[in-house]
Amino acid sequence: MSWTPTISTSTRLKIMNQLSIPNFTLNNGVKIPAIGFGVFQTPPAETITAVLTALETGYRHIDTAAAYGNEREVGEALRRSGLVRDDFFIETKVWVTDYGYDETRRAFDKAVEKLGIETIDLLLLHQPMVGRFDRTVAAYRALEGLLAEGRVHAIGISNFTPVILNQFLPRIEVAPSVNQIELHPYFTQVANAKANAEAGILTQAWSPMGGITHYRGSKATSTFTDGTLLKIGEIHGKTPAQVMLRWHIQQGRQVIPKSTHAARIAENFDIFDFSLTNEELATIDALNTDTRGGPDPDQPQPGFLTYPIPGV
Ligand code: NDP
Repeated sequence: MSWTPTISTSTRLKIMNQLSIPNFTLNNGVKIPAIGFGVFQTPPAETITAVLTALETGYRHIDTAAAYGNEREVGEALRRSGLVRDDFFIETKVWVTDYGYDETRRAFDKAVEKLGIETIDLLLLHQPMVGRFDRTVAAYRALEGLLAEGRVHAIGISNFTPVILNQFLPRIEVAPSVNQIELHPYFTQVANAKANAEAGILTQAWSPMGGITHYRGSKATSTFTDGTLLKIGEIHGKTPAQVMLRWHIQQGRQVIPKSTHAARIAENFDIFDFSLTNEELATIDALNTDTRGGPDPDQPQPGFLTYPIPGV
């Protein structure tokens, strides 16, 4: 596939010379950067600029989804970056209206066509569908097929609780590499992360900085102004956002912070020059309120079925 670089060679070199990002190794040997860039709620019109800014900052992993409606713009940004295919890691997710074996095969075709690439590094099922579990399993069997054919490099799930995982694992052949779940200092999901680890699944934290606790208009204190996080940040000359992202990575969780602001995109990436002590990690763990911001995956969510994913 041919790429059309729209940035200068010197900028490209600057990108390539960035500090190399630490990786996690997935259960099939594939490496994933410890930090990726999320684009949920990034409007399509802002996605190209946001993703290009992230790539120029040094991020190499983008997390999108069919349901975010911006796969096409993510692909366009990757093309404009001038990066060659092996230099970035692309993750996307199949939405529930495309579950079922044949439907999920077609969902892959839609995703690669929108992204303008031939292979996907990590493909997830976006949600378990309680009440349509056979279709969820059939969708995953399609991911297993795509993996065997080399069209995706790793496969996984999102929003699978330990209860659902227990029902799911006996019905599939290839263990998921990743379970992407809501996880931030106000909702630490210890049991879910433990269940993932026991099954050899990497926990990927969505809303890693607790974004959902403030964009949903929660009355709770925002993680970004949390006194404990501010205090720990002051010790290290870092912001609460940086402290939260560091907390995840030191505890073995991959993170995908989102922002559409260049300064924040850079701030969120600048987390590899300090370490939190064990005591600080435990202090952050203790901020848990056990309050979920997103929908409860153990409950049926009929509303999920109301938005089908268009083709190209
Ligand atoms: P985040 O924890 O990444 O927080 C993002 C929010 O915080 C945005 O409102 C952003 O605003 C703001 N923000 C970002 N950086 C800073 C900063 N340094 N200081 C202050 N505010 C900041 O939450 P998200 O819910 O966006 O989750 C991140 C990613 O996780 C998503 O983009 C998506 O890829 C994934 N996700 C997956 C879900 C799933 O079901 N699998 C569900 C939800 C998210 P602004 O953009 O204006 O800077």
